[in-house]
Amino acid sequence: MHGIVGIGLILDPSSTLIWLALLASNHGVLTLGGLLPKAKILGPNITHLPQAATAKGQIALTFDDGPDPIVTPQILDILEKHQAKATFFCIGHLAEQHPELIKRIVRQGHQVENHSYSHNTTFAFNGSKGISEEIKRTQVILTKLTGYTPQFFRPIAGIRNPLLDPVLCKLGMRLVSWSHRSFDTRFKNPHWMLRRLKKSVAAGNIILLHDGNAARTHEGIALSVACLPSFLKSITDAGLTTVTLNESFL
Ligand SMILES: [Zn+2]
Repeated sequence: MHGIVGIGLILDPSSTLIWLALLASNHGVLTLGGLLPKAKILGPNITHLPQAATAKGQIALTFDDGPDPIVTPQILDILEKHQAKATFFCIGHLAEQHPELIKRIVRQGHQVENHSYSHNTTFAFNGSKGISEEIKRTQVILTKLTGYTPQFFRPIAGIRNPLLDPVLCKLGMRLVSWSHRSFDTRFKNPHWMLRRLKKSVAAGNIILLHDGNAARTHEGIALSVACLPSFLKSITDAGLTTVTLNESFL
């Protein structure tokens, strides 16, 4: 688009305003595409499980921003009790601090994937080099701890720029967002959150929850921990099975 506008300005300078408006609208569309986590205008973006997984009644729970020394073990205990599986999008520098938690996640049959190294809210302002460094540094840490190379990446708050997709392609990784988010980092009422979560119980959905940065109830319990047992019961009652992303996509 920059090239087209440049040529346009040379060939038809009298229409400068039109060319600049074209450039501005192009930037506007790309910015909007980066701000909307489920948008696919900036490249492939997984928001649901594949058709075959949906037909089998599978649903994917994903936990972001961990590992957290308090909440992650609580989540793992609940998942084990309900024989449920989940995918954890972990932050690289936290994985470095709590390697035993990453190993426990994998040992219990769950999956660990990449959620950047620093989880900086300015992630989407990075150029290709900055994006690549954030992802690659975490890949090295997680690969060493899990014994496999993560294949999925989730950007911070789902916000990204057009340079992310080429970086992921180069690394052979896929962008995953979600079909439903729980807002468990913002709201403190578990009843409200559970009501919201129960509406997301359907085959093929990818649910976003948090073990790290989770909001707390008035009793000091992480919202995801407070809601998880009832949410898992709703999933079982609906005849659905929780799966890791690898179980559905590979
Ligand atoms: Zn996050």
